[in-house]
Amino acid sequence: MKCSKFLTELNDFLDGSLDSKLKAELSEHLTWCHNCYVVCNTTKKTIEIYRENQVYELPDALRTKLHDAIVAKCKASKPPTES
Ligand SMILES: [Zn+2]
Repeated sequence: MKCSKFLTELNDFLDGSLDSKLKAELSEHLTWCHNCYVVCNTTKKTIEIYRENQVYELPDALRTKLHDAIVAKCKASKPPTES
């Protein structure tokens, strides 16, 4: 699975609405792709914050921002900086 595919499915993955096969593929991707792992965790935390505020939809702007960030990281091929 490519990072772009992972990111396309990420929202549904976090929603738990994916079928188990695709879910397993995404989980497998996370075991070796650190960039997507970071994005997944960040998105998950963001969703939790929004849920606390009774907002269930992940804003498109944020989704685009995350997508751009991961694509940039993949292109740069440098290890992501931990903070
Ligand atoms: Zn990836």
